[in-house]
Amino acid sequence: MEPVLELEEVTKVYPTRPPLAALSGVSLRVERGELLGVLGPSGSGKTTLLHLMGTLDRPSSGAVRVTGEDVAALGDRQLAALRATQIGFVFQQFFLAEHATLLENVADGLLYAGVPARQRREEALSALWAVGLGDRARARPTHLSGGQRQRVAIARALVGAPALVLADEPSGNLDQATGSSILALLDQLHRRGATIVVITHDRSIAARMPRRIEMLDGHIVSDTCQRAGGAPTEPARPQTGSAGVAEGVGQ
Ligand code: ADP
Ligand code: MG
Repeated sequence: MEPVLELEEVTKVYPTRPPLAALSGVSLRVERGELLGVLGPSGSGKTTLLHLMGTLDRPSSGAVRVTGEDVAALGDRQLAALRATQIGFVFQQFFLAEHATLLENVADGLLYAGVPARQRREEALSALWAVGLGDRARARPTHLSGGQRQRVAIARALVGAPALVLADEPSGNLDQATGSSILALLDQLHRRGATIVVITHDRSIAARMPRRIEMLDGHIVSDTCQRAGGAPTEPARPQTGSAGVAEGVGQ
């Protein structure tokens, strides 16, 4: 089976003066069903790596393949379609529409995937249940805690069951306990079959992840996956209905 994500000798040089090599010769393979933690000091290239994985940016050289599709071979419109259907993003700052309901916020995750309105709402509600907020579907983000907001953002990333969920410091704006609960939620979603790459600076959180890579100066300096090509440590379980997965997860 195709890996969900494949990077081959990827470099990213920002056209600053002097040019800045943010990534140098990065190769990585992520299989379906993996949960991968990305660690590294500030400036080591983690966000750049995530942007390339998410096709938000193109590499300066090397190949990026998402679900087998070579990003370089796709035009902007095809790339946007790939992103809308196969990739979900979670950012440190949540990026929710404050005056829209939680349901609307999550349903918007399907807007560009061409899903009809009614189905968008149904899938959004099911994703909200998956993060433990199904009973708050009509609430607005202004009434939520930071941890709850991030759970809405995770629901938006998950809706439509994308092949890959990318999270950049999802606990970065949260206190330790809330941050841990967000990472625990990602772990639960992974156990149900989602493929997730998460950047975190919290080593205690990262230590619990089945696979970790460490970045330094634009290079991957360690990868706990010893097998060539980065095969998963256990087979992925298929994703089923999403109700109730977050039971017991704190706020
Ligand atoms: P991290 O997420 O690990 O902190 P980044 O990927 O954000 O690292 O940044 C890696 C390096 O690239 C840093 O030196 C940063 O200053 C630089 N950088 C990031 N984005 C840009 C950009 N858009 N233009 C120029 N330099 C950038
Ligand atoms: Mg960063």
